Amino acid sequence: MVRKVLLAFILLLMVLPAAGPHPAANKQYDRLRRKMVRDQIQARGITNRPTLQAMRTVERHLFVDSLYKDWAYEDTPLPIGYEQTISQPFMVAYMTSLINPKPHYRVLEIGTGSGYQAAVLSGITDSVFTIEIVPELGKMAKDRLKELGYDNVCVSIGDGYHGIPEKAPFDAIIVTAGAKDIPPALIEQLGDGGKMVIPVGSPFMVQYLMLVEKKKEKVTTQTLMPVRFVPFTR
Ligand code: SAH
Repeated sequence: MVRKVLLAFILLLMVLPAAGPHPAANKQYDRLRRKMVRDQIQARGITNRPTLQAMRTVERHLFVDSLYKDWAYEDTPLPIGYEQTISQPFMVAYMTSLINPKPHYRVLEIGTGSGYQAAVLSGITDSVFTIEIVPELGKMAKDRLKELGYDNVCVSIGDGYHGIPEKAPFDAIIVTAGAKDIPPALIEQLGDGGKMVIPVGSPFMVQYLMLVEKKKEKVTTQTLMPVRFVPFTR
């Protein structure tokens, strides 16, 4: 009798679905993600193929609290706790396409947040270094990226104003918090031909997305569009 019950229990375990979201839910997210890329990103003129491909691949719903999962593919930033946000999908795609990422690139991101932007870069480039100033967010992003297998991303905790001199030069730098000025250390750590995208403006004032390019020690800047990012803190 005991053996029969045990056998029935084992059989039951075998037919139970494996842990994790129902496959139909995943299909639904895949559909939403493809729609997001079409309607929010390509429709606004982004054509950079590696960027589009990465945006189609990275599962944004795994980078937000379960409360917001069904909002993950909407055209909006979302709260990630500690008064911070995961950026709007279009903004992530736009900033990624601006640096024109190549497979051999070593990229630095300031403001890890949820880890989503780092995951997008991870699929395109050789290595990604990212710094987060809120330790709890940094730790969460680090664990999440590890669990999801993004193993070419290195997360560190600290003030990104100083960059990571020992890992420089970088082919590209993406700053995802609105800074008062362009941190000189970041310009310093850009390699020859390197590009940096950074929102610049005083807190609570209008910020502008800027593209900084360095060619043979000559630095040029271009102002692209008004944007709204959480503040770059020190
Ligand atoms: N790239 C993130 C968006 C995060 S929002 C994502 O994909 O989810 C910006 C992040 O920058 C916040 O998490 C904030 O805590 C962080 N931040 C602000 N000032 C910083 C600084 N000086 N150094 C490092 N991170 C900073």
